[in-house]
Amino acid sequence: MTFIPRAICAKCGRALRPEQNGITVNAYAAHGPYYQIDADLYACPECKVEIIVGFADQPFHFAHDGPFSQYPNHKYVDVHL
Ligand SMILES: [Zn+2]
Repeated sequence: MTFIPRAICAKCGRALRPEQNGITVNAYAAHGPYYQIDADLYACPECKVEIIVGFADQPFHFAHDGPFSQYPNHKYVDVHL
């Protein structure tokens, strides 16, 4: 099977590896909370830089429908769009 990387570290030239699948991005716009969307956390095995890729097609929750969910033992990353 041909290995095609999801992302490559531009600094190290290494393929980034999945660190944690199914994290939640809390997306904020200039006006405040916007939406929550599932994505995957990848990391460079060399320099440990972390990036978020593999976004779902659609957010699973919009802020105008209620506050962001915050389950314990689940990874959330706040992102300002
Ligand atoms: Zn790197």
